[in-house]
Amino acid sequence: MTEAELREKQEQLNAILSSMAEGLIAIDNERRVILMNQAAGILLRTAPQEATGQDIRQILRSYRDGAELPYKDLPIEKAMTERNIISVGLLDNLSVRVKNGRLFPVALMIAPLLNRGEVSGAIILFRDITKDKEIDRAKTEFVSLASHQLKTPLSAINWYSEMMLEEEVGPLNDKQKEYLKNLYDANRRMVELVNSLLNVSRIDLGAFAVEPTPTDFAAVADGVLAELAPQLALKRLHLNKEYDPKVPAINADGKLVRIVFQNLLSNAVKYTAPGGSVGLAIKKEGENVLIRVTDTGYGIPAADQGKIFTKLFRADNIRDKEAEGTGLGLYIVKAVVEEAGGRIWFDSLEGRGTTFFITLPLAGMPKKDGVKGLT
Ligand code: ADP
Repeated sequence: MTEAELREKQEQLNAILSSMAEGLIAIDNERRVILMNQAAGILLRTAPQEATGQDIRQILRSYRDGAELPYKDLPIEKAMTERNIISVGLLDNLSVRVKNGRLFPVALMIAPLLNRGEVSGAIILFRDITKDKEIDRAKTEFVSLASHQLKTPLSAINWYSEMMLEEEVGPLNDKQKEYLKNLYDANRRMVELVNSLLNVSRIDLGAFAVEPTPTDFAAVADGVLAELAPQLALKRLHLNKEYDPKVPAINADGKLVRIVFQNLLSNAVKYTAPGGSVGLAIKKEGENVLIRVTDTGYGIPAADQGKIFTKLFRADNIRDKEAEGTGLGLYIVKAVVEEAGGRIWFDSLEGRGTTFFITLPLAGMPKKDGVKGLT
């Protein structure tokens, strides 16, 4: 290639880079900036020439939930050590601090640069997603408003069908009773769905309240198990309970604790074939309480295990067996547990069973002001 041709190629490349709307930064293996386009400079309020040679971790300082991410947790490190393309989107809540101190939410894509099989650097593509966040929030607010409005007519259907079923306004023949019972059950499922949607929108808006009071976890669990007794009996499920007397009353929001037990236990019952077993243990483990819910049910297919805490996800293996479900329960449980400073994880083998584990600090849940609690 002649010098003129080389220069033309270089100019073409510069034109492409400077006309891109997304910020682009290339770094070397030492995490030093080797190239930065104009959009990146504008987004980060840093002149590209000034950034060249600087450590990317100083230029692109990343934050999640208000706290700066340590080096080892940076997506750039992950991409370079795992040699994978990493993408960080709307749901990952990542922000970048610019020179004047302002934080803006970002979506990122990081690709490691490989040179003869060795990582020689990385390319980072990023954009400001402030607008996307606003749209997302508006959608969540709409869901919240719509679910709230749906509650009143659904309560009316519930009330009137209950009164009619109890024959308060005259006797019913068997067919009428059967149809009305179906109507009543369908309405109850709709109420559950609307409540879950409302809970999800309160979680997504960061608007749910936490009101801690001394709570006896075993008593809450027993309350939920009493409600599930008809299903347990219908499916002839064995129930094993193991309550450690050393677990004290914990300063937690009783409603939230109930939501956790209700979802995990009702899932264990729903997703276990008749004649199987369901186990619940509540134990003290160091500074935490450990909740363990075990079943000998259908299990979660290995390929789906990464997705079960996401909104609306239901695994294929249970869809034809169990029609009832919204795919919102575990999303809500995870948000509650994490808000309370705890952890949730599981072990599962398809066709054999599942065990969910939760740890929550014995010290209790921090109080949080919010518009409303979860229902
Ligand atoms: P759903 O309303 O569908 O039960 P969840 O959010 O509670 O929603 O659970 C999401 C999905 O995770 C379920 O649809 C099911 O595929 C899987 N799952 C949850 N718990 C279990 C379990 N104990 N055994 C097998 N699969 C489960």
